[in-house]
Amino acid sequence: MVVVQKYGGTSVGSIERIKEVAKRVAATRDAGHQVAVVVSAMSGETNRLLALAKQISPHPDERECDVLVSTGEQVSVALLAMALKYMGYPAFSLLGHQVQIATDSAFGRARIKHIETERLLSALQKGHIVVIAGFQGVDAEDNITTLGRGGSDTTAVAIAAAIKADVCEIYTDVDGVYSADPRICPQARKLQRISYDEMLELASLGAKVLQIRSVEFAKRYQVPVHVRSSFCHDEGTWLVQEDPSMEDVVVSGVTSDLDQAKITIQRVPDRPGLAAKLFTPIAEDNIVVDMIIQNASEDGSTDLTFTVPKGDAQRALARVQAIMPELGARGVTFATDVAKVSIVGLGMRSHAGVAARMFQALAKEGINIQMISTSEIKISVVIDAKYTELAVRVLHDAFLGQTG
Ligand code: ASP
Ligand code: MG
Repeated sequence: MVVVQKYGGTSVGSIERIKEVAKRVAATRDAGHQVAVVVSAMSGETNRLLALAKQISPHPDERECDVLVSTGEQVSVALLAMALKYMGYPAFSLLGHQVQIATDSAFGRARIKHIETERLLSALQKGHIVVIAGFQGVDAEDNITTLGRGGSDTTAVAIAAAIKADVCEIYTDVDGVYSADPRICPQARKLQRISYDEMLELASLGAKVLQIRSVEFAKRYQVPVHVRSSFCHDEGTWLVQEDPSMEDVVVSGVTSDLDQAKITIQRVPDRPGLAAKLFTPIAEDNIVVDMIIQNASEDGSTDLTFTVPKGDAQRALARVQAIMPELGARGVTFATDVAKVSIVGLGMRSHAGVAARMFQALAKEGINIQMISTSEIKISVVIDAKYTELAVRVLHDAFLGQTG
């Protein structure tokens, strides 16, 4: 088999850990597989480098920032390749530009456009272990780029797709994907498998196991991804293409997201073009609006509420305030003490009454729902942040409790 293994920051966080990873890679190779390895920077290193940049300037130059933070992965690939060579294995390291991981030029959040595979494939065929720096690429002008925080996951899945690997193993410090955050919900259990679409919802809802772009890649190229722990040998969670039996499970996971702010525009005259006027400037600022609700209008005016990530809230608010006079609204309110809690599952497509069950479970605990949104396989509610953990637990009990 052709195997891509990705090791995250804690998995290569010390020399001891790197030696352990080398043993695991070597064992995979000994089992007769071709192995390409993608590694992250040693844990804490990317943050340390970013902090250095901040000491130079509050807004460090983006191009140079990528030159700087990409060095974290340069250290870890070199050390891992060294460890493998010391054990007698034919291994070598490659940086993003040496592989030719071609990206666009969006420094700090670049997207992979193409990966050159010739060199990788011929090395693997010769039995060499290739150790590839995660998180980095090169643009058309030969500038070093990085893919955004957590981007090594995306490197790994993209490499696996490009070389048509049989599996992409993501080694991390948790042993799989759970039905809820085990720190919040003791009943949470490890999922054996989950569909790409469910994982996309869970990742975007704040389950931080995988960078969301890596899941998009996995889905597009149908890469089987195995999320597992580098600290033990247990099976983790498989990310796979959906099959009909998956619809038997109504809810696969419950997640919460505290990175939400809520903005309400009060008593705004309800005219055609209102929403366009409001959301166009926000979109121009590259702010991603998540939930939106507009109340039924009364006396020709209405309230409109929407949510944005906390980090963008001040900018969004400034945009709204700037157009207030033009909209003719009475006022704006703003809240950051809110959370989004969601249930996700393919089975929602074929089971009726899932939303009602969710609302009953929350009502029983006296948790007020401020906003609701649904998609084919997800129902989200916005609630007071102080009830987040309680809400996750009662929803887990309601949908996943009995079978645990
Ligand atoms: N080292 C980068 C980060 O800390 C990329 C990664 O770990 O995936 O975000
Ligand atoms: Mg990570």
